[in-house]
Amino acid sequence: MCFKGISGWFAGSVLAVFALVVAAPAPSAPAAPSTLRLYVFDCGVIRGLAVTMFGFKEGEVPPRDFAVPCYLVVHPKGTLMWDVGVIPDSAFPAGGGPVTQGISTATRTLTSQLAAIGYKPSDITYLALSHYHSDHTANANAFAGSTWLVSQVERDAMFAPKAAGIMQQDSFKALKGSRTIILKNPEYDVFGDGSVIIKSAPGHTPGHQVLFLKLAKTGPLLIAGDLYHYPEEATMNRFPTFEYSKEESAASRAMIAEFVKKTGAQMWIEHDAATFAKLKKSPAYYD
Ligand SMILES: [Zn+2]
Repeated sequence: MCFKGISGWFAGSVLAVFALVVAAPAPSAPAAPSTLRLYVFDCGVIRGLAVTMFGFKEGEVPPRDFAVPCYLVVHPKGTLMWDVGVIPDSAFPAGGGPVTQGISTATRTLTSQLAAIGYKPSDITYLALSHYHSDHTANANAFAGSTWLVSQVERDAMFAPKAAGIMQQDSFKALKGSRTIILKNPEYDVFGDGSVIIKSAPGHTPGHQVLFLKLAKTGPLLIAGDLYHYPEEATMNRFPTFEYSKEESAASRAMIAEFVKKTGAQMWIEHDAATFAKLKKSPAYYD
């Protein structure tokens, strides 16, 4: 009896422990840091785009590969995902990358890069895209549970019956039902303390936007979206041939140049491979 009793107790305990393990919630996101951080992820590369697409004559600038970064901003009050890649994680085979689609290649999923620093897409407070082009939206659906920060003109263009050029509506269709904050002003202060600001910089698309960060050690930083692709677009005053409005782009570039001068911010052109090559990649971070 006694032996049976102990063994029954033992089995029951094992079951209880097993149930606890099974029922344990997925690990929660890391504790919020006390100061602002920025993580940079490698979301792929785009090869072989003609320089003529960006307003140059053949031979004026050497053709270059385009980097495709994704960024995670971690603030004491929450997190912001900024741009989500060119190739969806769902395109990766079980064993991992690289994956090539057309002229784009990615070697690591965005989810695995987030997981490496302890985050799941469902942990992320806010999602913002610099703009709707498909090389920035590939994993947008994974962040449908976040609060989406977007202007009305950009959102309207994204859900128009007919897709605009360089747009893959399927890649962000889940955002249609997301909690959304429509950005109505030239600046939106994401966490209310001036350290993470989305600035409207239209022209490349109707609601193109850029991200300004005040990092304690790194200093002020402007992540410029596709305001430029080649740095020479700034020095030689060239524009991509596929701007939504070249006039608006020119005005946005002038406004941002003034802002960068005033704030002393460094500016990162997202696609510029030379800039990207020098950046600390996650799990390292800027603070
Ligand atoms: Zn782009």
